[in-house]
Amino acid sequence: MTPPVTVTVTGAAGSIGYSLLFRTGAGQLLGSDTPVRLRLLEIPSAVRVAEGVAMELDDCAFPLLDSVDIFDDPRQAFEGANVGLLVGARPRGKGMERADLLQANGAIFAPQGRAINDAAADDVRILVVGNPANSNALIAASNAPDVPKERFSAMTRLDHNRAIAQLAKHAGVHQSQVRRMSIWGNHSTTQYPDVFHALAGDRTGAELAQDAAWLEHDFIPTVARRGAAIIEARGASSQASAADAAIDHVRDWFGGTPSGDWTSAAVWSTGHYGVPDGLMCSFPVTSDGKGWTVVDGLEHGPFSQARIDASIAELVEEREAVRALGLI
Ligand code: NDP
Repeated sequence: MTPPVTVTVTGAAGSIGYSLLFRTGAGQLLGSDTPVRLRLLEIPSAVRVAEGVAMELDDCAFPLLDSVDIFDDPRQAFEGANVGLLVGARPRGKGMERADLLQANGAIFAPQGRAINDAAADDVRILVVGNPANSNALIAASNAPDVPKERFSAMTRLDHNRAIAQLAKHAGVHQSQVRRMSIWGNHSTTQYPDVFHALAGDRTGAELAQDAAWLEHDFIPTVARRGAAIIEARGASSQASAADAAIDHVRDWFGGTPSGDWTSAAVWSTGHYGVPDGLMCSFPVTSDGKGWTVVDGLEHGPFSQARIDASIAELVEEREAVRALGLI
C-alpha cells in the first residue's frame, strides 16, 4: 500500500460527483494500492445532499476509502489536497450572457484558486471539469500564484473518448485499436477533433479522413455536439461518461500514458504550436506519471489549421472577457 492521497471534489452532491465519488472510493482513480481520503466541497444548500452521498460511501465499505469529510468552505476543503477535481460550476441560466456566466464562475473559481494556493499540498494537481472548463481553469490557476501552472488542467478527455468511439465505428475496428486521437482548442463546440494523426487498426486517420463528407458533416459535429444529443435522448446530461473521462484523465496523469499513444487535455500554453502563452488550450499530451508534456512536431493542413485557429480565437476572447472582469 502507498500512503493515502487526499482528493478534494467540488460539486460533490451533483450528478457527476455521484458517479465520480464511488469510482474513486473503489480505487479506479489512483489505483488499487492507493488509499484515498475524500474531502467534499459543496455550497451550503447542497451540504445535506453531500451528507447522503457520504452515507452511501460508508455503506460501500470500500477497503481503500480512509475518510470522507464535507465542507462548505474552500479553504478547509482544499487543506492538504494532493488532487483537486473541480466539478461544481454555475450552469448557464436562461438569458445569461457569456460575461454573466464567466462572472458567476469567477466567483467560484477565483476563491477556489486562492484556497488551493494557501491550503493544498505542495504536489497538488488540479483537474477542472465544471464548464466553461478552460476559462474556469485559467481563473483558478491565475489565482494560485504559488502553484506551478502545469499542475492545472481542464478536461477534454470526454471529447477525446467520444472521438475515438466515432472513428472506431467509421473504421470498423474496436475502440481499443484507435490511438493518437487529439482534441485541440476549447471544450466547446469550436473544439477540433483531429483524426489526421490518429491510427485505427492498420489504417491511418489521414486515409480515413479522405471521406470528406464523413469528416466534415458527421465526425466533427457528432463529437462536438454529443453532449446535446445525449441530453435530448436521455433527458439528462452525460454525467457517467463525464465522470469516466475524469477518472481516465487523472489515471493517465498519475500513471502515465501508454507507450506509442497520447491523450488530450487542456493545459497552460507556453507557446506550443503558436498558441498564445497562458491560454488553457487542449493539445495532444503524454504523461510520464509526473506531468503532462505537449506532443511536439505534428503538422496540420489548411483544413485542420483553420479549425484550430477558430477555437483558439474563442479562447482568446474568453480570456479577454475574464480579464475585463478582473478575474485574472
Ligand atoms: P453536474 O455534476 O452534472 O455537472 C457539473 C459541471 O460539470 C457542470 O459545469 C457541467 O457543465 C460540467 N460538465 C463537464 N462535462 C460534462 C458532461 N459531459 N456532462 C455533463 N456535465 C458536464 O451538475 P449538477 O448541477 O448535477 O451538480 C453541480 C453541483 O455543483 C451541485 O451540487 C452544486 O451545488 C455544486 N456547486 C458547487 C460549488 C462549490 O463547490 N463551490 C459551486 C457551484 C456549484 P454544463 O453546465 O455545461 O453541463
